[in-house]
Amino acid sequence: MTKKALLNIDYTNDFVATNGALTCGEPGQAIETAIVQLTKDFIVHGDFTAFMIDLHKESDKFHPETKLFPPHNIEGTDGRQLYGQLAPLYEQNQSLPHVFWIDKTRYSAFAGTELELLLRERQITELHLVGVCTDICVLHTAVDAYNKGFDLVIYESAVASFDAEGHTWALRHFENSLGAKVIKL
Ligand code: ZN
Repeated sequence: MTKKALLNIDYTNDFVATNGALTCGEPGQAIETAIVQLTKDFIVHGDFTAFMIDLHKESDKFHPETKLFPPHNIEGTDGRQLYGQLAPLYEQNQSLPHVFWIDKTRYSAFAGTELELLLRERQITELHLVGVCTDICVLHTAVDAYNKGFDLVIYESAVASFDAEGHTWALRHFENSLGAKVIKL
């Protein structure tokens, strides 16, 4: 049987809330129900569930994103907390052995993290992606997953971007170039 994992990417206040530092705004808020439901399903079924969350230090002049974006997801801030109902869902389940919170400092969930080791140890071959932004962190994670030989499933109703055109382009790219199964719920 194929072993699968859910990668829950960057669904934090800074990326989703109306007053977030680098927010997707309404499109991000519109996926809350879907992302919470999918996450619940994975947790209840005992499947590997990882919250892959962007982490920045204040005034980090060496980080490449400093030149590109305003400060966001700063360590210890409210902006870095999970958005909406995903927050209590994580809190209630964080002690389960198949639920992980993994800090990441780059777009891809694989860059400089222990994610791949955890997946390989468990012989997980299929990655399900949800979160934001479709055309930045979800995209870079999907590209790395493809290159590493993982199969991909992406939920159209559980990914979002501030850039509607980028969102549509990325969904096409997942399907046509990364061989992902894009589920249109
Ligand atoms: Zn960042």
